[in-house]
Amino acid sequence: MPDTDARITAVDTYDIRFPTSRELAGSDAMNPDPDYSAAYVVLRTDEAQGADGHGFAFTIGRGNEVQVAAIHALGHHVVGRSVAALCADPGALYRDLTGDSQLRWLGPEKGVLHMAVGAVVNAVWDLAARRAGKPLWKLLADAEPEWLVRQADLRYLTDALTPQRALELLRRGRDGADGRAARLLATGFPAYTTSPGWLGYDDDKLTRLAREAVADGFTQIKLKVGADLADDIRRCRAARAAIGPGVKLAIDANQRWEVAEAVRWTRALAEFGPYWIEEPTSPDDILGHAAIRRAVAPVKVATGEHAANRVVFKQLLQAGAVDVVQLDAARVGGVNENLAILLLAAEFGVPVCPHAGGVGLCELVQHLAMFDYVALAGTTEDRAIEYVDHLHDHFLDPVVIRAGRYAAPTAPGFSAALRPESVARYTYPGGTFWAADLDPTGGRTA
Ligand SMILES: [Mg+2]
Repeated sequence: MPDTDARITAVDTYDIRFPTSRELAGSDAMNPDPDYSAAYVVLRTDEAQGADGHGFAFTIGRGNEVQVAAIHALGHHVVGRSVAALCADPGALYRDLTGDSQLRWLGPEKGVLHMAVGAVVNAVWDLAARRAGKPLWKLLADAEPEWLVRQADLRYLTDALTPQRALELLRRGRDGADGRAARLLATGFPAYTTSPGWLGYDDDKLTRLAREAVADGFTQIKLKVGADLADDIRRCRAARAAIGPGVKLAIDANQRWEVAEAVRWTRALAEFGPYWIEEPTSPDDILGHAAIRRAVAPVKVATGEHAANRVVFKQLLQAGAVDVVQLDAARVGGVNENLAILLLAAEFGVPVCPHAGGVGLCELVQHLAMFDYVALAGTTEDRAIEYVDHLHDHFLDPVVIRAGRYAAPTAPGFSAALRPESVARYTYPGGTFWAADLDPTGGRTA
């Protein structure tokens, strides 16, 4: 029986950095040398044998301490709150965090502070799912539509999506949900892989990894592009030759281009049959994306991993600027805002193919995509979750990929908890890895 008097006693934060830049894993046209990092938060409670709540914001190295500080700045909203009340209504905390009248100046609802809100809110959802004994996707899929509408942040969206319409979508999504949940548990959710396509990999490594991806059952891979057109033509040719005509090839420019340049470059790669062009230009440029989409069709336009909040997604959809919504579990204000983004995508009939990779993003976002399949969109057609095969071993409940599909998590929670030994080793700068790495004597202290 959960303790109904239990309180949140602490909001512990950790600056965790992995030295991924040394292998060029994660390299793209905008981010040549990322050290994948997590501003990690653990909500502690005084519940006897109770669970903690785990969440994080993802960054790529320098500045992770700023992200940690932003999470720390939100702590006073959380410490002392009733655990039972928090888990019964995470939206109440979400509104307190996004509505903090002084902190709100640092956004509003964008950037470092908003990502901090997302980390804390997601930690609450992890705690709620653990206490309910369900993986988060199942907690959401089992929830009453009326409750989910109250959890979704529909503020500023009602010109595109009213609460009444959201309720209709969620009620419709319940039809056949039990059957879809059973299918999900049996066969998983489609994935695509970005592992072959990092910009720092040479053609031999690209070809080998692309062939391996197809052999492993993936039906879509993704290549980073945008630094040098001649290189991109050569790499796309090699990738297409490796995967054959029947496997989808997505390309990702990571915001590298001007609008006209995006059109020219994408057309120059059209002979290789790209499925989508991802982040062709600034993530804030809604009309630019709309212009690119009109000009490069039938190549699809995908974006969202850097969309600051639900309002940007609303405008992307209203403007006909995207074919694929790439929400990110740790960019916006957590589950409450992502529920709104999933509802917007359902209302506009645009598929959601979540952004993942980094550290822990696959672990988190699988729950949102699986809820969308089971109890909202009701289909996996034209849908796949990004997959990158690194850093999963640091999590207590890592993603499982079988035959190119995500296996549905069954452990209670949001799959966000890091292994204690990974926290001890990769905390920056004092963890054992970094302390030895940063030691000018190479550890040969007298
Ligand atoms: Mg991307």
